Amino acid sequence: MAEIGRMYIDGAWVPSASGATREIINPADQSVIGTVYEGDAADVDKAVAAARKAFDEPSSPWRALKAGERASLLFALADKLESEAKEFAHLEVLDSGKPLREAECDVSDACNCLRYYAGLATKPMGVTYEVPEDMQALTVREPIGVCAQIVPWNYPLLMAMWKLAPALAAGNTVVFKPAEITPLTTIKFFGLIEDVGFPKGVANLVLGAGATVGAAMSAHPGVDKIAFTGGTVTGKKILESSVGNLKRVSLELGGKSPNIVFADADFETAVDYALFAIFAGQGQICAAGSRLLLEKSIAPKFIDRLVERTKKIVVGPGLAEGTEMGPLVSERQMEKVLHYIDLGIKEGATLACGGHRMMEGDFAKGFFVEPTIFTDTTEDMSIVKDEIFGPVLAVQVFEDEADAIRMANNTRYGLAGACFTQDGAKALRVIKALRAGITWINGYHSTYNEAPWGGYKESGNGGRELGTYGLEEYTEVKQININTNVCPIGWFAN
Ligand code: NAD
Repeated sequence: MAEIGRMYIDGAWVPSASGATREIINPADQSVIGTVYEGDAADVDKAVAAARKAFDEPSSPWRALKAGERASLLFALADKLESEAKEFAHLEVLDSGKPLREAECDVSDACNCLRYYAGLATKPMGVTYEVPEDMQALTVREPIGVCAQIVPWNYPLLMAMWKLAPALAAGNTVVFKPAEITPLTTIKFFGLIEDVGFPKGVANLVLGAGATVGAAMSAHPGVDKIAFTGGTVTGKKILESSVGNLKRVSLELGGKSPNIVFADADFETAVDYALFAIFAGQGQICAAGSRLLLEKSIAPKFIDRLVERTKKIVVGPGLAEGTEMGPLVSERQMEKVLHYIDLGIKEGATLACGGHRMMEGDFAKGFFVEPTIFTDTTEDMSIVKDEIFGPVLAVQVFEDEADAIRMANNTRYGLAGACFTQDGAKALRVIKALRAGITWINGYHSTYNEAPWGGYKESGNGGRELGTYGLEEYTEVKQININTNVCPIGWFAN
């Protein structure tokens, strides 16, 4: 029998304190692909204690490491991950359902993320200030301390890297929790953390559900910062439970992003990207272009072409040759998506294609849902307002530029958005008017380790991941004032 996946706490692989376990399911056929220990608050306590010790003890080997040495560890991790890229990608497909080509991109992006932050660890971050007195004022950036990190299931390995790489590069210690249904690549990755020789207690892995383990992490008085990626409702809960010790909080949350296509756009390019924007990752991408805004004059022709191409998308198990779209990650997620499809029909939208769970032959074993497009939508419909997080596109039709901008911004979210047009000035006007943090002109979804990632409004709480912003999120700023004229100040006469 395969070993039960363990947690990694204080440099040791340990079972959960309670002994509880959880089966991990392949969403393509519901087979059990592994069993892992299921933690609770007691495991969080142990992990936080280990992280505290590794951060606080004056003799801690981690605190003694220079930035260049931390960078070397991260470079070594990237090399290791790269050398096992095939195995990681394969495991990610089994656990998350995503097509192999997507999992391969994720592993490659994860390596690049590690290398980016390894490089950044040694770059200057302080500032000097000219001040009125005989003082030299300057700032240094220091690690925050113990960082608790919680991620969702859509990019298990890559989201782990967006959190772990900057936190470790900046010299923090971490307690990390993957989504309970997709922990396998993260457990394997912690094996690499052990192999390259991070001191014990620096990086700790806890496994388990959000309501128990995640909640314990966000409320824990021993945690200095909580970094979270996931749903907006969960993000708000985390913010509430973090106030006890005024933790630093980073929240990367949901979206309902508009993809705006003007009549003068390059037609085939815009169709191609509209498909990519919503159906990549089975639509389970926070920045998905889940609302397609079409200028009225091209809408009928555009929808025809879109539907024609959508029907040709090859759906299948992630490891099958030629698969372009996989199953949804879990039965729960599939039920949520099917519920929204029902709502769309009930609220009066027209189902242009898709709309069903796929049940023929082997499809019935997995959580496959047809790529789905709704037209004739109105702005008050649930499928237009809510994040569905699945392969469901809501098409909206606009009259002119002002109408497009108004409609695009009519959402509580503000994560991403795009605009397709061959008029450069119009493109920039529209994108600047968009209340969203990540935008594309004549493109979609490209994401760079070098550039900041995060949303406006309810898509986050203002911070950014990736780029230099991502590193700064894991630092405190210290002001240092150096007196260059060392003599008594004479404030009190005697
Ligand atoms: P989720 O909020 O249900 O869960 C995310 C993580 O939070 C999981 O690890 C879960 O166990 C944990 N969690 C759940 N309840 C918790 C609680 N009360 N306290 C602490 N932790 C808790 O989200 P999900 O369904 O796993 O992921 C989908 C969501 O993630 C979507 O809304 C998507 O837009 C968002 N997302 C955002 C980004 C981004 O960068 N903005 C990236 C990926 C996904």
